Amino acid sequence: MSKPEHQLSCADCSTRGCYHRQEKFPKFCLTTSLKAEEKSAVKDRYSQGEMHRVMQAAAEVEGKFYGKLTRVEETLKFASLLNVKKIGIACCTGLADEARIFTRIARTQGFEVVCVLCKVGSFDKTEMGIPEGVKLNPGEFEATCNPIMQAYILNREKTDLNVAIGLCVGHDAIFTRHSDSLVTTLIAKDRVLAHNPVAALYTSGSYYKKLFKEAVSENTRRT
Ligand code: SF4
Repeated sequence: MSKPEHQLSCADCSTRGCYHRQEKFPKFCLTTSLKAEEKSAVKDRYSQGEMHRVMQAAAEVEGKFYGKLTRVEETLKFASLLNVKKIGIACCTGLADEARIFTRIARTQGFEVVCVLCKVGSFDKTEMGIPEGVKLNPGEFEATCNPIMQAYILNREKTDLNVAIGLCVGHDAIFTRHSDSLVTTLIAKDRVLAHNPVAALYTSGSYYKKLFKEAVSENTRRT
């Protein structure tokens, strides 16, 4: 059976003509496929209000501090350029120490900070309809991550900018969807690679070659 053809997109492009406009654009190019009215409608969305301010601040962080600031520093610089007074932190319990350090740094730099741990609300996993059998320790109380509650509290606190520190894959998506303020990620959790997920890609020619093996479903693997 022949494999389905993939839809080609930017990951398949070898020219990146959109970047410098010095190279050719490939046939499947997402830039050249845009209609003028689509480009203009998107451009309009940057032209005023919050998105305008955020784009200016992000450009200033990149333009003035390129390669000079760490992400911790960039995050706080970005916040100060946006005139943020109160930073919200949504953190993972596994990174509570890192969240505490970031809180101290932010406070030292004059920001108010409210930090909400993922287990806030203290709901047992079964209260969320999660079966006892998929707990790490079935039969025991096991607090679920609660990204909607994290967002609810930070919304109630009227934070100006929220920073995600080590939220689980999926919980980060829920948190971002429910946060009233913009969310920027300081730490992307990777339990295996010390929160450096790109290491799997850097080593995909060696230790992580297995990532290129075709997916085998969990059920098939177990039988
Ligand atoms: S927009 Fe076009 S030129 Fe740019 S990376 Fe995507 S396919 Fe390549």
